[in-house]
Amino acid sequence: MAYKFNLVNCGCGHSFGTSGSRVNYCTKCGSTTNIKNVTGFENAEKLSVAVSTANIPKEISDELIEKIQKKENKHKSSSQNKSSDPFNLMKKATDIDGNLSKLSLDEVLISEGISDTTSEHLIGQAEMQGLLTRVTQNTWNWLS
Ligand SMILES: [Zn+2]
Repeated sequence: MAYKFNLVNCGCGHSFGTSGSRVNYCTKCGSTTNIKNVTGFENAEKLSVAVSTANIPKEISDELIEKIQKKENKHKSSSQNKSSDPFNLMKKATDIDGNLSKLSLDEVLISEGISDTTSEHLIGQAEMQGLLTRVTQNTWNWLS
């Protein structure tokens, strides 16, 4: 399947992005036959990140990629090991008056790097367990 946004690596060492489905020629050396590799991306944002990374000198980019991968692994393992108990997250999101809002819980989830659950889900679970009761459209109070 062809992507609309492509990262093109030319044999001359230049990498550039195209947003068409077809690669015509290298924007640096003009070659049409020197194209080494084309990688598709699903959106323009991802493509622009890839293009800027691709044009960083090789040694730096290896280091950078390693750093990014390390960071990602760290990120993954921290959200996978479930050290963050939903109950604690919700307590963290509760203000001094004992009100928990969806917005504050969203903020806690983001700051903890938790992406495998949603504030709606956590609040819904706690509601079912009788821990929370809804007081306004977007605010809940603790029952215990
Ligand atoms: Zn080229």
